[in-house]
Amino acid sequence: MKRILLKLSGEALAGDKKTGFDEETVRKVALQVKELTDSGIEVGIVTGGGNFWRGRTSENIDRTKADQIGMLATVMNCIYVSEIFRSVGMKTAVLTPFECGSFTKLFSKDRANKYFSRGMVVFFAGGTGHPYFSTDTGVVLRAIEVEAEVILLAKSIDGVYDKDPKTSQDAKKYDSITIDEVIEKNLQVVDMTASILARDNKMPMWVFGLNEENSIVNTVNGKFTGTRVTV
Ligand code: UDP
Repeated sequence: MKRILLKLSGEALAGDKKTGFDEETVRKVALQVKELTDSGIEVGIVTGGGNFWRGRTSENIDRTKADQIGMLATVMNCIYVSEIFRSVGMKTAVLTPFECGSFTKLFSKDRANKYFSRGMVVFFAGGTGHPYFSTDTGVVLRAIEVEAEVILLAKSIDGVYDKDPKTSQDAKKYDSITIDEVIEKNLQVVDMTASILARDNKMPMWVFGLNEENSIVNTVNGKFTGTRVTV
């Protein structure tokens, strides 16, 4: 594998605390990503923002403004994760679709490619830069733009199920499922906008549990126990 995009949900960064950051959790992710970059794989990262804020958090404030707060939450997350990555010896860059002064650099495909070619982990912060979208759409969009081979969706759940395994004991996990089936059954691997973008641009997604030992490295090295969403 040459280039992958890894999506970390906001909650995944918070560990058991459910909000804010959990340094130990993020350090474990960092050490795994280092193993991948040391073996020559180019890694892009998208984080969610749910550990701080979601556009849907308040019903009383304007949705566009609420979504802007959400996008800024993802910038904070990326700066944090990027610094933890640096602390274990990786080179990183944080790109955003809007100006954040000297905090980040403005996203362009050429700039992302330049950083990848220097062996840096590239963080795509700020989602799509537009309200009414999500970081699910952000990760699919960036994966397509930078021509990644696959999106790795590291979740709190270990794959895609036919129903919610938390509430249904007979829920069945898929080893593999087509994106058409995900859309038809509304399985919410990523949100519907992101699913359709992935389908139309043939971007596969592999879903696995972040909490399982060494799951990111295992996923890339063929010891995959999650669900492959095929296109
Ligand atoms: N967000 C947005 N546009 C984007 C990406 C994110 O407006 O392109 C905002 C939105 O408010 C969202 C929040 O950022 O709720 C956090 O993103 P995430 O994808 O984690 O949100 P979730 O799907 O969990 O609501």
